[in-house]
Amino acid sequence: MASFEYDLGIIGGGAAGLTAAAGAAQFGAKTILVEKSTRLGGDCLHYGCVPSKTLIRTAAVWNLAGRSKTFGLPALSLPPVDLGTVMDRVREVIEKIQHHDSPERFCSLGAEVRFGRTAFADDHVVELDGKRIAAKNWIVATGSAPVVPPIEGLASVPYWTNETVFSQRILPGRLIVLGGGPIGLEIAQAFARLGSKVTIVEFMDQILGPEDTDMAELLRSRFEAEGVKIHTGTKALKVDSKGAAILLTVAPVANEGQTAIVEGDALFLSTGRKPNTGDLALERAGVAFTPQGTPADARLRTNISHIYACGDVNGQFPFTHVAGYEAGIALTNAILHLPRKVDYGRIGWCTYTDPEVASIGFNEKRARKAGLDYRIIEEAFEENDRARAEGETAGKIKILLDKNDKLLGCQMIGAHAGELIHEWIIALTGGVKLSTMAGAVHVYPTLSEISKRVAGRIFADKLFGDRTKSILKLLFNLKGRACNP
Ligand SMILES: Cc1cc2nc3c(=O)[nH]c(=O)nc-3n(C[C@H](O)[C@H](O)[C@H](O)COP(=O)(O)OP(=O)(O)OC[C@H]3O[C@@H](n4cnc5c(N)ncnc54)[C@H](O)[C@@H]3O)c2cc1C
Repeated sequence: MASFEYDLGIIGGGAAGLTAAAGAAQFGAKTILVEKSTRLGGDCLHYGCVPSKTLIRTAAVWNLAGRSKTFGLPALSLPPVDLGTVMDRVREVIEKIQHHDSPERFCSLGAEVRFGRTAFADDHVVELDGKRIAAKNWIVATGSAPVVPPIEGLASVPYWTNETVFSQRILPGRLIVLGGGPIGLEIAQAFARLGSKVTIVEFMDQILGPEDTDMAELLRSRFEAEGVKIHTGTKALKVDSKGAAILLTVAPVANEGQTAIVEGDALFLSTGRKPNTGDLALERAGVAFTPQGTPADARLRTNISHIYACGDVNGQFPFTHVAGYEAGIALTNAILHLPRKVDYGRIGWCTYTDPEVASIGFNEKRARKAGLDYRIIEEAFEENDRARAEGETAGKIKILLDKNDKLLGCQMIGAHAGELIHEWIIALTGGVKLSTMAGAVHVYPTLSEISKRVAGRIFADKLFGDRTKSILKLLFNLKGRACNP
């Protein structure tokens, strides 16, 4: 049997690759990770989750300061924002977290890290700087990159993507955001709150396409109240410039002849992601791939069974927590030969706009597509005492139940929905009964009480149904009423 220098080789030092490297090394497998840039951390740390959430927080603080009067405080007159200083803070946060992702730390765990461009030579060997690295198993974890859409004239104007937006120093007076998905919406709201006039152009007929329309509409109304212009069902046809201004010609998807021009000082592209497979020479390893990614089975194996694909590159769920989850499954398959499989039915996610939009399991769109019968129970944030105290009453929680009142999914739009959704992730993952959730005494006053309340409604509806009510009425009427109107 062939012997290999390493038990496991990993290509890509982002969320998936780093999780796999740390795990495999700690299990004692001889592990090497190869990263093409000069630092570890990948998109999430450098151009994704971390900088976006840091920017969002700064923008939220500024928004609160601008609303001081609604909290009974004097109105503040806010000076213009210096984007450079804001981005300095973004950089500081990245650097602090980067410390955790240093090659030295991985070396101390037992994983070797090398930097440089790499490509497969065959199904066990990759080449790096002319040297061959042979491993028994490989995990491809090269992530994804922003799609630059084929729009006439786009190449002739400066545009931003997630790879450049966080290094900007000058706040644009007007920002055009092309794409109304999570990335576009988070950036749009942050820049609008910092002082840019933002226009979003979205091809689909709603923002946040995969989410339920009622959720998307609630978010849209908040954005519009904050001054963000949103054009849905709108196609970008052409880009021109006039001096420093960018002119985007758009038209309704349904009527391309009816053009209009959106003018901006900067253009942010958030029109989707494409897998980073281009420079890997996957064909030399015999690994199949498509423009959507490197397909993998439930054990995360590609068509070549000792080569695994984790994270954004496999085209499944483009989230950091999914990349980490998949890496754990792939490494136990590769190293421990435990046939663990992914279960994407229990994957939740959140869009970190204000209010946040979080989801787990079935929403209405997915339930209809799956042909499921469902009923909905909702509870508004404005019924929650803590939400009132916080001045965060926008939004609602919506749960979907099957005909036996089994939980199918939970959708939330509201303050801290990304935190609150975990109660529902646990409920679905652990098969927790809604009666348990409704019966669990929640701490008062917390936003979490909204979960207890919505779960309790199922039983309240049954308990206080017409039949029970008439029986109780009969029973207590025997003693007479304490008060009769
Ligand atoms: C603006 C933005 C905000 C986001 N916010 C969130 C969020 O809040 N929550 C969330 O869960 N997800 C978020 N995401 C998604 C998240 O960043 C990705 O899902 C996650 O980074 C995927 O991890 P990965 O390991 O697959 O890829 P990455 O983390 O990108 O890592 C891939 C690594 O592979 C390297 N690489 C590429 N090609 C090669 C090669 N040929 N050889 C060697 N190395 C290579 C890259 O340099 C990179 O370091 C966000 C994304 C963006 C763009």
